[in-house]
Amino acid sequence: MNALAATNRNFRLASRLLGLDSKLEKSLLIPFREIKVECTIPKDDGTLVSYVGFRIQHDNARGPMKGGIRYHPEVDPDEVNALAQLMTWKTAVADIPYGGAKGGIGCSPRDLSKSELERLTRVFTQKIHDLIGIHTDVPAPDMGTNSQTMAWILDEYSKFHGHSPAVVTGKPIDLGGSLGREAATGRGVVYATEALLAEYGKSIEGLTFVIQGFGNVGSWAAKLIHERGGKVIAVSDITGAVKNPNGIDIPELLKHKEVTRSLKSFSGGDSMDPNELLVHECDVLVPCALGGVLNRENAADVKAKFIIEAANHPTDPEADEILSKKGIIILPDIYANAGGVTVSYFEWVQNIQGFMWDEEKVNKELKRYMTQAFHNIKNMCKTHNCNLRMGAFTLGVNRVARATLLRGWEA
Ligand code: GLU
Repeated sequence: MNALAATNRNFRLASRLLGLDSKLEKSLLIPFREIKVECTIPKDDGTLVSYVGFRIQHDNARGPMKGGIRYHPEVDPDEVNALAQLMTWKTAVADIPYGGAKGGIGCSPRDLSKSELERLTRVFTQKIHDLIGIHTDVPAPDMGTNSQTMAWILDEYSKFHGHSPAVVTGKPIDLGGSLGREAATGRGVVYATEALLAEYGKSIEGLTFVIQGFGNVGSWAAKLIHERGGKVIAVSDITGAVKNPNGIDIPELLKHKEVTRSLKSFSGGDSMDPNELLVHECDVLVPCALGGVLNRENAADVKAKFIIEAANHPTDPEADEILSKKGIIILPDIYANAGGVTVSYFEWVQNIQGFMWDEEKVNKELKRYMTQAFHNIKNMCKTHNCNLRMGAFTLGVNRVARATLLRGWEA
């Protein structure tokens, strides 16, 4: 099942649990606006190359639309659509005053030079600048993009609209970024994990963790889990996978990756088959990379007791069913990885107020939002007698539905 079909399915299940009217259900599902643009740039050798860029704005009932921009070869309209919709429910679960959007360009950022990436980002911004804005749609980094990408968007946008730091979040600190934003998704994953484990009388200390993905989210999650005494026994990224049953020294692995840009030939562990990683024996599995990695091919072999969805949509519905039957507890993406967009909200607030918070305040507020959201999800689970995914979906969908109804249906 592709990402959009799977997301629609989860939405409809939640809508049925909430007893939403079918007209409202339909209206909540259809995106507010879908933008598709041609982005042609000269490569460094002077040849022209064309890419397709997307921005899908899903819903704005609760506030400006919000979500990342992804640079990845597999970016397609259905996936961006699904991710935009997930942002609508995610911002509602986190209870931050935003709707949802997502963007992307189908390209391989690793194969582009820095100046090619800059030209591509500026051309994309030129094509969408009239449709984004501080109070309409606020982009942020996602897979394959980072604070530098946001700096270029801000600069290009400002040429048309004047200096507007709050038009993007996840910016470099020197341009109005928030302290703690870089680590926020990984840190939020850890706060979410702590809230979940506490329900079972457990804590991170002493448990074994397997982490798929060692980019921004995975590496921060691994570092913070390691600091809390969790044993990270296997890690992978696109360059390979490494395991150590006694726990990997994460600060050492981070140094190794910084120097070699790879997980290969790390002396503090043995290399392993990245496909085996997801079914490796552990207490907690944390997928932090692409969507759809847990599917009917591997779900029956998963041995973890808990799955924390740090990636967006890592578990397809077939896997969801198999894993639930096995009694594995899944903390869903629209809650587990909401730390990034929550600190994006703090960044936007700081930009609008023109007042910068210290990192302690950012992290403290992030913990408060993540813990509160977990309790709200648990309440929905009780009310609707459902699992955590449906608890999160009913919480998010219900908030958006209420806002939509309060705005009224009159044309
Ligand atoms: N790309 C991140 C996400 O999927 C962050 C979005 C944001 O900060 O707006 O949640």
